[in-house]
Amino acid sequence: MVFSLLDFLFPKRCVSCHQLGGYLCEDCFSKIELIEKPVCPVCQRQAFGGKTHPGCRTQFGLDGLVVACRYQGPVKKAIAKIKYKWTYDIANIFTDLIGANLWKFDLPKDLTLVPVPLHSKRLYWRGFNQARVLAERLAKKFNVPIADTMIRIIETKSQVGLKKDDRHKNVRGAFVLRLAPLAQDEIIADVRGKDIILVDDVFTSGATMAECAKVLKRAGAKTVWAMAVALG
Ligand SMILES: [Zn+2]
Ligand SMILES: [Zn+2]
Repeated sequence: MVFSLLDFLFPKRCVSCHQLGGYLCEDCFSKIELIEKPVCPVCQRQAFGGKTHPGCRTQFGLDGLVVACRYQGPVKKAIAKIKYKWTYDIANIFTDLIGANLWKFDLPKDLTLVPVPLHSKRLYWRGFNQARVLAERLAKKFNVPIADTMIRIIETKSQVGLKKDDRHKNVRGAFVLRLAPLAQDEIIADVRGKDIILVDDVFTSGATMAECAKVLKRAGAKTVWAMAVALG
C-alpha cells in the first residue's frame, strides 16, 4: 500500500471496526454476505438470473433485480457512511462487488444507467446524490451510458419503519422525467425503446425503484431493471 500525505493527515479507518489502513479492512470485507442466488424484485423469492417471475410481472413494473450482497454488518455501516461523506474508495469497493457478481444476472445487452434521484432540498443539504455517484462509477467500469434523467418532485418521508403498502403509497407520484436541461450543453436522454437500469445504494421493499420504473416505462422504456449494492 502506498501512503500519501493525505493518508497521513486523514488516516483511513475501516468503517466497520475502525482499524487503520483502509475504509473496509480484509476481516470486515470477508464478512460481507453475498447474494448467492438472485431474487425477483417483486416477491424477493429466488428467481433465475434475477428476472421478475412471470406471475409477478406487471405492465409498468420492474423486469429484474441485480444486488450484490445483504444489507447487514460492514456493508450497512459503509452505506450509512457514504450517505454523509462520499469516499471514492468505498464507491470502488461497491462497484467491484457488483462487477464480480454480475455473471449471476441475465441482463439485457445495451444498457443505460439511471440513478434514483434525490429531492433537490436533500441534494442541496447533502451535496451529492450517492445513487448518482455510484451510477457514474458503474458507467465508467462497464463502459455504458448514464442518463440522470429523473427528478424527485415530492420530498417523501423516510421509508424506514413503513410497511410495504405504505412504502408504495409514500413514493407515489414522487418522480417525473426531467424535461429541461440543467446546463446549456446538456442533452436530455430519450428513454424510448431503451433498456434501463435504475441505480440505488440499497433495495429494500423496491417501492422507490418500482415507482421510478413506472415513470420510465410510461415514457416508453423497453425494460427497466433495478441495481443496488445491497438487499435490505
Ligand atoms: Zn474492519
Ligand atoms: Zn416474484
